[in-house]
Amino acid sequence: MKSRFATCLNCIDGRVQMPVIDWITQNYDVDYVDMITETGMDEFLANENCDQYHVMRKLGISIGHHNSDSIFIVGHFDCVEKSAGEKTHKKQIRQAVERIKNYTLSCNVIGLWVSEDLQVQKICENKGPVFI
Ligand SMILES: [Zn+2]
Repeated sequence: MKSRFATCLNCIDGRVQMPVIDWITQNYDVDYVDMITETGMDEFLANENCDQYHVMRKLGISIGHHNSDSIFIVGHFDCVEKSAGEKTHKKQIRQAVERIKNYTLSCNVIGLWVSEDLQVQKICENKGPVFI
């Protein structure tokens, strides 16, 4: 059977790689997680002034070559990129999910938060496509 891939837009932070991969493969029907990283990925995607070309290019390759249709966007505690609190991070995760959803209408886009004890929490999910 063909391997199934998901795509994760995550922070560079080493603490949050394995917990996120484990959570995704345990909760979604995927075998592998393509990982695209940036410092403070949630803020990076939520901020319209950031040049997101290189991230979008990699996302397009993951979707196009691995047929990924589930995209995860991760924010986490104690991020090096900024000292924003959990509430701000979660708002940015939601903004990032909407932004990526507009870019990849056929994909399921899911926002995740990783807490200090490395527990993964689903913040939101924007499913697609919806056929009426
Ligand atoms: Zn971080």
